[in-house]
Amino acid sequence: MDSDALTSAKPVPLSTHEEDPINQSTSLLSFNTDSSDPSSNRTHKPSTTILFIALLLITCIALSAAAAFAFLFFSSSSSSSSSSSSAPSALDTTARSLNKLDKPVVLLISSDGFRFGYQFKTPTPNIHRLINNGTEAETGLIPVFPTLTFPNHYSIVTGLYPAYHGIINNHFVDPNNGDTFTMASHEPKWWLGEPLWETVVNHGLKAATYFWPGSEVKKGSWDCPKGLCMNYNGSVPFEERVDTVLKYFDLPSSEIPVFMTLYFEDPDHQGHKVGPDDPEITEAVANIDKMIGRLIDGLEKRGVFEDVNIIMVGDHGMVGTCDKKLIFLDALASWIEIPAEWVQSYSPLLAIRPPAGYNPSDIVEKMNEGLKSGKVENGKYLKVYLKEELPSRLHYAASDRIPPIIGLVEEGFKVEQKKTNRKECGGSHGYDNAVFSMRTIFIGHGPQFARGRKVPSFENVQIYNLITSILKINGASNNGSASFPSSILLHSA
Ligand SMILES: [Zn+2]
Repeated sequence: MDSDALTSAKPVPLSTHEEDPINQSTSLLSFNTDSSDPSSNRTHKPSTTILFIALLLITCIALSAAAAFAFLFFSSSSSSSSSSSSAPSALDTTARSLNKLDKPVVLLISSDGFRFGYQFKTPTPNIHRLINNGTEAETGLIPVFPTLTFPNHYSIVTGLYPAYHGIINNHFVDPNNGDTFTMASHEPKWWLGEPLWETVVNHGLKAATYFWPGSEVKKGSWDCPKGLCMNYNGSVPFEERVDTVLKYFDLPSSEIPVFMTLYFEDPDHQGHKVGPDDPEITEAVANIDKMIGRLIDGLEKRGVFEDVNIIMVGDHGMVGTCDKKLIFLDALASWIEIPAEWVQSYSPLLAIRPPAGYNPSDIVEKMNEGLKSGKVENGKYLKVYLKEELPSRLHYAASDRIPPIIGLVEEGFKVEQKKTNRKECGGSHGYDNAVFSMRTIFIGHGPQFARGRKVPSFENVQIYNLITSILKINGASNNGSASFPSSILLHSA
């Protein structure tokens, strides 16, 4: 333990997580420079030996008192590290130095559909090792709207809201040319903005992607290099993905990619089938934890676990849906007919593009009239908007690709064209990102993250700046805030 840091430690009360970590650390730093060096308090005047000895004694007593105080503070802060709030400890204000790697490395892991709270479903010792020794968004990571897989994964790596990065849904039609985007579309024209792998390569550094929406798209300086950029194949066992990423750390130090992605389809896959409250989810969460354990083991064997900045996130949460919570568009026929051809997506994001000649405002008005009439089953749980009139916090208007009419459906409800006899219960996501069940996790672990720290929830568009900040490179402009990284990361030494 660094004795200098100990003696200079100003006992900081365990405060709420609201406390501004920047101010806190600056005050610690200034305390540090003012009085941490005991020798600066010492007088070197050789006037009398007695005076010198007396001063030395006083210094010693002061030092022991400070050390005892600091010890008390640290032991209390570490014992409470698993509780709900903890300020960064004084030892934790500066980034820890690298032992083996010669530059910062970020490993970005996504566990699809990992709803905030899943980490408590079952013992997750490996995920909790990252949480307890790292920095966690205390009430989860806030996805962007719509809370769907492709829009969110691409927001995480570009720092842009979907209206600006272009992936406004998992599938949509470009009204300018009638082309259809699907999750298998790899033409660069769809994928706007500058994803992290491109930013990294622009700085002469290496990136490696073991799956991530958009990573296979050859765009700008990123050509999806063989061996570093994997073509999506959902049947690759998770173990193989982890082991491949680990092998990058066997490369000579200068060739280790500084930014890597690792993607798991679970527990989203199970969530859709059975909803969030099923033993199958518990099992999937336990398996993701096992993969994190396998990763930690491999990094420890290579002596780099404490050197790598691991960021573990999900893209969105999950909520149960069942057949009694349905709204049928055909039930609106007495007010307005909505043919299936107008509907680009039903649920949970209802997106309607009427053909030319129809006035979207009239359609919105008639639909809402019907929905509010009390005569449409579950009508009150769907509200239809012109996209420009959606709440501005959704940032879901500024793109031609977003159809003019958007319906917001309440948590757990689904929109369908017409009533069928189908019985269905499962899980869904895509709802308003203010809905708590749509939240996912954020955990940062590594030399730039304080240990045992909880931070307030934030939107995933902040992650781009966080990563460029760790890598010490300039990123492209985006919707994240430039000051955000300093509120989450330890300050560079
Ligand atoms: Zn997803």
